[in-house]
Amino acid sequence: MELDVSRALAQPGQEFPFSGTQAIADQEIYGTIVKIDDCGVEGTFMADDEGNVSVRGRIDTIAHAPCANCLQEASAKVENEFDEEFIRNGDPEDDEIFAYEGHRVSLDKLVMSYAVMALPIRFLCREDCPGFEYTDRTDIPQETGIQYPFAGLRQLLDQIEEV
Ligand SMILES: [Zn+2]
Repeated sequence: MELDVSRALAQPGQEFPFSGTQAIADQEIYGTIVKIDDCGVEGTFMADDEGNVSVRGRIDTIAHAPCANCLQEASAKVENEFDEEFIRNGDPEDDEIFAYEGHRVSLDKLVMSYAVMALPIRFLCREDCPGFEYTDRTDIPQETGIQYPFAGLRQLLDQIEEV
């Protein structure tokens, strides 16, 4: 989303409220695709005498990813607060700053980075998700001719757990 900051530039020191929504592209985090709903954004903006624009406010959305334990769909609330300055005619290639030109401030990069920062490290379908329900470990057939490609891995894991 973009803010038209003409009014703020004409009245430095005066705060102007804004609100809107912004779409956020799917994110790949540690190999997991996280989908993020349209993000609610609200706050205020204010210009200083040099034409730099302070934008502060909050974002609010829901993110979706597979549960870290059982791979069922899980979701998490994503909320964050921001307070950033957009430098007038700053270098748009500089990752350390937010920059803008003319009278339009794009919040795309800000909203995306604050949303990603607020993502949980692990998504869980519910707080006490038990993960995969293993049957009794002695059930694993050894020589039945049925293919259990992960049986060997399971035994290996059992050995590691026993150490
Ligand atoms: Zn789960």
